[in-house]
Amino acid sequence: MPELRWKNMKIAHGKPPMGCVQCEKGAKMVLLATGLCDVGCWYCPLSARKLGNDVAFANELQVEPEDKDSIIREARMVDALGTGITGGDPAVVLDRTVDYISTLKSGFGDSHHVHLYTGTPLGPAQLDKLSEAGLDEVRFHPKPAGWKDLPEPHRRAASDAMDRGIVTGFEIPAIPGTKKDILALVDTLEAMEVAFINLNELEYSETNWDAMQEREHTWRTDTSNAIRGSEKVAVQVVTFAHDADLNMTVHFCSSAYKDGVQLRNRLRRRAKNVACARDVITTDGTIMKGIVETNDPEKVMKNIVELFEVPKEMVGVNEGRVEIAPWILEEIASRIEEKAFIIEVYPTEDRLEVERAPLN
Ligand code: SF4
Repeated sequence: MPELRWKNMKIAHGKPPMGCVQCEKGAKMVLLATGLCDVGCWYCPLSARKLGNDVAFANELQVEPEDKDSIIREARMVDALGTGITGGDPAVVLDRTVDYISTLKSGFGDSHHVHLYTGTPLGPAQLDKLSEAGLDEVRFHPKPAGWKDLPEPHRRAASDAMDRGIVTGFEIPAIPGTKKDILALVDTLEAMEVAFINLNELEYSETNWDAMQEREHTWRTDTSNAIRGSEKVAVQVVTFAHDADLNMTVHFCSSAYKDGVQLRNRLRRRAKNVACARDVITTDGTIMKGIVETNDPEKVMKNIVELFEVPKEMVGVNEGRVEIAPWILEEIASRIEEKAFIIEVYPTEDRLEVERAPLN
């Protein structure tokens, strides 16, 4: 039996499911089908912009729910090998979710892996539609009250999903004080021959703040929104699974992993596709640009090209400003009248600027 060890801020007994393998590479598009959900978990981390609203997002990009072209374009932007459909609860908009799966499968082929997260114990008719559309993997999320003794609808849903050849798992947060309940759930799932359970680190968010305070949960560190004690519970459960040599995978995903590995790898993939020759991609997947701010960018660009013999591919006009390769702008900025800066932007659709350093 291989030794249990941390890798990339995650720890697992058994082989992580394909949805997680692709996620780690940043090769999975996160498709939020809706912010609607009828489950109402007190710890729901969804942002105020999404929670309870019928909105759709492909990664960080908000799209009209019916705008499948934008979804496909975003998947291409990160060279996605798969898509994780999440919410809210995608089962609330089941036909839309089924349509998304069909669109992704016809756009990228059967090998494009699709996993679905849902708080709903899906019925046979719902599973039939999802399975016919090509769903590869499902992750059920029962509320904590159902962990100790998994309710019948979730048992039936998991068994029906497995009967249809869908890789079936569960996904829950590791809530401090619930170790016994999680172990009981692991026991039930192992007996049902479920493939995996993912334990996520419990996190503060703008929307669950009050509920966390009420339950006296506190931060693990000042720089993270992970909850103290969550990782400890998860590691104890993973260790139990390992010591008992369970058949199912028990997998813990830390909060630091999501930002430090998964998001960074996805940004890197997107940066490779959106950066041009004059941009610099950082190891974090952000883009460094040299910019000159002016009311007449075309004229200023022409002057710079003539005066400093800047190669054409190293300069351009974009978003009403002149953009120049940062290493060139650093050399010539002191001889330019207009304000010059090095900026750092996310490679996302909105090119969110996170840093700006003046050069002159
Ligand atoms: S099932 Fe998921 S999306 Fe729905 S309330 Fe619970 S945590 Fe939030």
